Amino acid sequence: GIEMNNWLQQRAYLTPKRTALIFENQTWTYEQLNDAVRILARTLAAQGFQKGQHIGFLMDNHPNTVMLIHALHYLNVVMVPLNKRLTPKEIDFQLRDADVHLLIVDETHENISNQLKFGEIINIDDLHREEQKDLELEDSIHLDDLHSIIYTSGTTGHPKGVMLTYGNHWWSATGSALNLGLREDDRWLCAVPLFHVSGLSILIRSVIYGITMVLHRGFESEKFVRSVHEDKVTIASVVSVMLSKVLDADTYEPFPSSFRCMLLGGGPAPYPLLKRCETEGIPVFQTYGLSESASQIVTLAPEDSFRKLGSAGKPLFPSQVKVVPTEDRTNDDAGEIFVKGPNVTKGYYKKDQVNDEKIIDGWLSTGDIGYFDEEGFLYVLDRRKDMFVSGGENVYPAEIEACLSGHDAVAEVGVTGVADERWGKVPAAFIVLRDHTDITKKSLIDYCETHLARYKVPKVFQFIDELPRNASNKILRRELIKYLNEGES
Ligand code: AMP
Ligand code: MG
Ligand code: MG
Repeated sequence: GIEMNNWLQQRAYLTPKRTALIFENQTWTYEQLNDAVRILARTLAAQGFQKGQHIGFLMDNHPNTVMLIHALHYLNVVMVPLNKRLTPKEIDFQLRDADVHLLIVDETHENISNQLKFGEIINIDDLHREEQKDLELEDSIHLDDLHSIIYTSGTTGHPKGVMLTYGNHWWSATGSALNLGLREDDRWLCAVPLFHVSGLSILIRSVIYGITMVLHRGFESEKFVRSVHEDKVTIASVVSVMLSKVLDADTYEPFPSSFRCMLLGGGPAPYPLLKRCETEGIPVFQTYGLSESASQIVTLAPEDSFRKLGSAGKPLFPSQVKVVPTEDRTNDDAGEIFVKGPNVTKGYYKKDQVNDEKIIDGWLSTGDIGYFDEEGFLYVLDRRKDMFVSGGENVYPAEIEACLSGHDAVAEVGVTGVADERWGKVPAAFIVLRDHTDITKKSLIDYCETHLARYKVPKVFQFIDELPRNASNKILRRELIKYLNEGES
């Protein structure tokens, strides 16, 4: 396998004075970050664990979290980042499933850690007060070594731990740079969680590229806008809800021309949002990615975003994508998306059977449905399990959601299939209205009819207060049915 110098060590050696991290009013150069991390790594080592063991963390975005992640690299232990929105029961499941040896929490998560069955927990703040252990840190990394186990969002069934190696992350960072390019003055805003691959990949890119990560504790639209201007951000990673909140923020002012990339992923991009960004001069790069591919695997440049409306783009240079027809499909030429490449996981932790089924000859089945157009652009339609058939036609809830979310009165919408005597299933839309709006079902139907084929127009409209979402903020479409009031539609 390939060996490299520890990434932070190498970066601190190559460009010690460059800014590594900006958080609130504090900054760290790579040299300063490395010094702090090496102390933390030695302190952690004094807790007595061994190379290859699994260490969980349950922490907000914070410099301590950045330092912890780098310290784990120096100890060659495997990190298991935990989603802060999980319940204690879910956390216990993941800790057990991932064979975690020790859990590290911050002040914010001290409380939830008291509710866990898992007992081996330390607070990062207490660690700083501990003695250091005089040991040799791991000054090299091996691309084949396991780096992290990240649990997928799981909109269906039990979450599975995706195993990512150093090599997966390295190739993900490299593939992204070959596509987006790299500038010495790049600053990547991270307002997405570090416990998710979207945030973790920003941290890893920043150290490999030698650019600055501008870290936010969480997402706040006003702060996001201010930071783009004041911290000279050039790239930011967002999901569509974040982006629309940014545009609606009180502090919103058009972004400087140095802002070169709004990387939009995690789900389909609604057309009206893209239009607004075009008007505002915000360069949106739509992207398709998953935990299993260590973030982006397909990305669309802004010059194509309207010509290829709704497309996620083309695969990154080192990666391959194919679409395979599936049996449950009826009459369109879409199929299941498979991905392969050096950024793609070798499998789920301790799930040999699932791995045998889902990964064939290095091709991972994503569970997503999509198709390529004649120019080789990928369109992601929906998750395979969320598609349903209505009167012999395939219906993709995501397409209907994207349409309805373009209606002014609609704040959020989730669509699922409900049983129907005549058609088998028909689409039902569950809508959260914007504040103080009043709207009739008739006008929503009219709106849909101008944008969608007949069989895609929802037969049921239900207004609700909030959509059911999982810890990664993805809509739990199968739970929508619970909100259906008989006779209400
Ligand atoms: P996760 O399971 O949290 O790793 O999120 C990955 C999933 O998000 C994918 O399998 C897709 O279902 C969805 N997703 C990500 N990007 C897009 C996109 N551009 N369009 C549609 N769905 C997407
Ligand atoms: Mg080693
Ligand atoms: Mg997934």
